[in-house]
Amino acid sequence: MVTAKVWALKKHFEGLPKTGDFVLKMIELPKLKEGELLLESVFLSIDPYMRLYSQKDMKEGDIMPGTQVARTVESKNPAFTVGTFVVANSGWRTHFISDGKGLQLLPPTWPESLPRSLALGAVGMPGLTAYFGLLEVCKMKPGETVLVNAAAGAVGSLVGQIAKILDCKVVGCAGSDPKVAYLKKLGFDEAFNYKTATSLDEALSKASPDGYDCFFDNVGGEFSSVAINHMKKYGRIAVCGAISQYNDSVPQKGPYIQVPMILKELQMEGFIVYRWDNRKEEDLKVLLKWIVEGKLKYHEQVTEGFENMPAAFIGMLKGENLGKAVVKV
Ligand code: NDP
Repeated sequence: MVTAKVWALKKHFEGLPKTGDFVLKMIELPKLKEGELLLESVFLSIDPYMRLYSQKDMKEGDIMPGTQVARTVESKNPAFTVGTFVVANSGWRTHFISDGKGLQLLPPTWPESLPRSLALGAVGMPGLTAYFGLLEVCKMKPGETVLVNAAAGAVGSLVGQIAKILDCKVVGCAGSDPKVAYLKKLGFDEAFNYKTATSLDEALSKASPDGYDCFFDNVGGEFSSVAINHMKKYGRIAVCGAISQYNDSVPQKGPYIQVPMILKELQMEGFIVYRWDNRKEEDLKVLLKWIVEGKLKYHEQVTEGFENMPAAFIGMLKGENLGKAVVKV
């Protein structure tokens, strides 16, 4: 008999989540039936959407949602032999049983030298988010200027690098000086600390006096209201995330965006990466190739221990992560 540890939502978050809002539970797993397999989480992903979904889709007592890289430890399903690694969407659990549906095998070409946790980051959902957001939503073209915020995070750091690979000028901002130094190391043309800049308006003008063709927005709120005034005519804005608003109990108020949208004839489109699920495999291969060639660099903020899932999640919301936040069980 296997006992799984799981983290559940004890109490709905108010503002920034607290460790006391989570509860660790033990669940005895039944014996496998024909067609089933038992999986053990190796790496679990820590993502901002968990905060957003908690208030929209969860009730107290529900297991926290999320994806993991997991190893098959027992199998009565011929498609998954013992030792096979998969990406699963089974929430904050150490062990779980699956009938195989929805499990995604790691690409057979996965190099031994790369950590499998990258399947939750640069060669996973965040990588695809950066790729499709830039190419399909921003419709970025070589020679254009791209602005990205939360730029030292999982998605943002890839947005900037992909834009550089495709011959654009890139401006990024992040919330600490070490993060800004990291962006420069990654090859961003301009980078600044939005927390210490005396004026966001001035920092955006200085970084690109001619304005921005594309804005990959991970943050929303006040940052977006200021940035929109720096768009070039016919600029495109990909609304990827609004992390500055996820902890709000009371919705933020204006300034409102309609006037600059009209005068600059902007396009602004929200998106969810799963729109391009049918192209996922093909584009994961591109991301993996760029990583192997050294064109795309990655950094992971690895927290050790399943018991530290809540701390890693809270830390990410506070900006403590550089690159992709993951937990190693
Ligand atoms: P990150 O790795 O970027 O981690 C979150 C970062 O957000 C923190 O490190 C912090 O960096 C920044 N942040 C936190 N609070 C604020 C705030 N109040 N104002 C400005 N920045 C803040 O996370 P991801 O890369 O996983 O996600 C980035 C965004 O993309 C999120 O909004 C997420 O919801 C969204 N997303 C959307 C997807 C989609 O399909 N649309 C898919 C995946 C992610 P700093 O120190 O710089 O402040």
